[in-house]
Amino acid sequence: MATIDGVVIKDSVKVERIGVHSHIRGLGLNERLEAAPVADGMVGQLAARQASGFIVKMIQEAKIAGRALLITGQPGAGKTALAIGISKQLGQDTPFVSISASEVYSSEINKTEALTQAFRRAIGIQIKEETEVLEGEVVSLEIDRSATGVGPKIGKLTMRTTDMETIYDLGSKMVDACLKENIVPGDVVQVDKSTGRVTRLGKSFNRSHDFDAMGPKVKLVKCPDGEIQKRRETVHTVCLHDIDVINSRTQGYVALFSGDTGEIKAEVRDQINRKVLEWREEGKAQFVPGVLFIDEAHILDIECFSFLNRAIEGELSPLLIMATNRLIEKVRGTDVESAHGIPSDFLDRMLIVNAEPYTNEDIEKILKLRADEEGVKLDSNSLALLVKLVSTTSLRYSIQLISVAEVLRMRSKEQTITTDHVSKAYRMFYDAKRSQKLLNDADYLL
Ligand code: ADP
Repeated sequence: MATIDGVVIKDSVKVERIGVHSHIRGLGLNERLEAAPVADGMVGQLAARQASGFIVKMIQEAKIAGRALLITGQPGAGKTALAIGISKQLGQDTPFVSISASEVYSSEINKTEALTQAFRRAIGIQIKEETEVLEGEVVSLEIDRSATGVGPKIGKLTMRTTDMETIYDLGSKMVDACLKENIVPGDVVQVDKSTGRVTRLGKSFNRSHDFDAMGPKVKLVKCPDGEIQKRRETVHTVCLHDIDVINSRTQGYVALFSGDTGEIKAEVRDQINRKVLEWREEGKAQFVPGVLFIDEAHILDIECFSFLNRAIEGELSPLLIMATNRLIEKVRGTDVESAHGIPSDFLDRMLIVNAEPYTNEDIEKILKLRADEEGVKLDSNSLALLVKLVSTTSLRYSIQLISVAEVLRMRSKEQTITTDHVSKAYRMFYDAKRSQKLLNDADYLL
C-alpha cells in the first residue's frame, strides 16, 4: 500500500473469473490480422477473431470512442473467450472485468451505481513510485527460533553483490517473509525496505550446479553488481474502483476485501478523477483502459442502456463488450421489441461480431488445449467421448469433466484419463439439461 498526495492506493488482488479461460493468451493473429487455425490458445472462429483484431487496432489508434462491441452467439460459442482474447491482445496487463447483466440488479446499490463500479474496475492506473530496495544473492540465512517455538523469531541475512557483502539483522516480520518465500542461499532476492516484502528474482548462476535437480522451471539470474541498496522504480497497477473504495471514508479498507462496498459518493469519485488526471499530467501515472464484458446483455433495462450510452463517451471509458444469445426480445422496462433485446439507438453504436457454433474438430482442439493447460493426459478414446458429450451437454460442461476425470484418474493410479474416468465423472455430476430433466420427470414432485 502507498500514499500519494494524500490519496491511498493499493495493488489490487484480482480474483477474476477467468480460470476456465486461462489458456487464452491473445487472438492469435498475424501482422495482417489474419487468424491462424490455432494460436495464442485460440481455436477456429477465424472471422470473429479477425474482426476482433480490427477492434484492437481501432482502440490502439484511438478510433473507438463512443462505440461498443456486441458478440452474438449460442452458449459455449466462445463469446467470453473472444472478449478475453481482445483484452490480452491489448496488453497482458489490461484489466478485464466480466459481469453478468443480472448482477446489476442488487438490493444494496442501484443499477447505475453497479454499472459505474464495473466501469471503474475496468480502468487500470499504473502508478510509478521510487522505493529503496536491497538486491543481492543470499549467502546465508540464519533463523533463531526460541526453544518453545513461541515468541518473536529473529535472524541474520547475509547478502552479496559481485562487489560487496553485508549482514542484515532480521526482525520477526522479515523472518516470516523469508520463510514464506522459502528463501535459501543461492537465491537472488529483492527486499522492499519500506514494506519488508521479499521477492525472489531467481537462482544465481554461480550456484546453478546446486540446482540441477530442480528442473527446468528454475529461473537463473546473474548475481547483481554494485551496491546492495538501490533505488528502484516500482509500478503499481490499481483500478479506479479500488482507489474510490479505499478513499471513501465511510467504507475504507475492510470493504475492499469483503467486497461489500455500497454506494460511493459522487464527490469522492470527482475528487479521485481530478487527482489521477493531475498525476497523468505530472507523468506520475498512466491510464490503462481495460475491457468491461457484460454477458446476457438482454437482461439490462432501458435505464441501464441510457447510462451506458453516456458512459462510453467518457474520457476514461474502457472498451465495453456485450454478449447475448437472444434474437429478438422486448427491451426491459419498455414494450418495444428490438434485436437482441438492445434498444435500437444503442445498437446503432455497436459493432456486431457473430461467434459461430464450433465444428467437432474445433471442439476437439479446444478440449485438448484445456487438457494441456491443466497438465492432464487424455487417451484418444476419452477425448472422443468428451467431444461427443458436448453435443448433448455443453462445451463448458465437458471442460469441467476434464478436471473431475483427472481426480478419478489419480485415485485409480492410471497414467492417462480413460473413457472409464470420463463416464464416471459424467454420472457423478449432472449437466444443466439432465438435471432439469430429472426434476421435470420426478413425479414425486407432483
Ligand atoms: P460463451 O461465452 O459463448 O458461453 P465461452 O467463451 O465461455 O462461451 O466458451 C466455453 C469454453 O470454451 C471456455 O472455457 C472457453 O475458454 C473455451 N473456448 C471457447 N472458444 C474458444 C476458442 N475459440 N479457442 C479456445 N478456447 C475456446
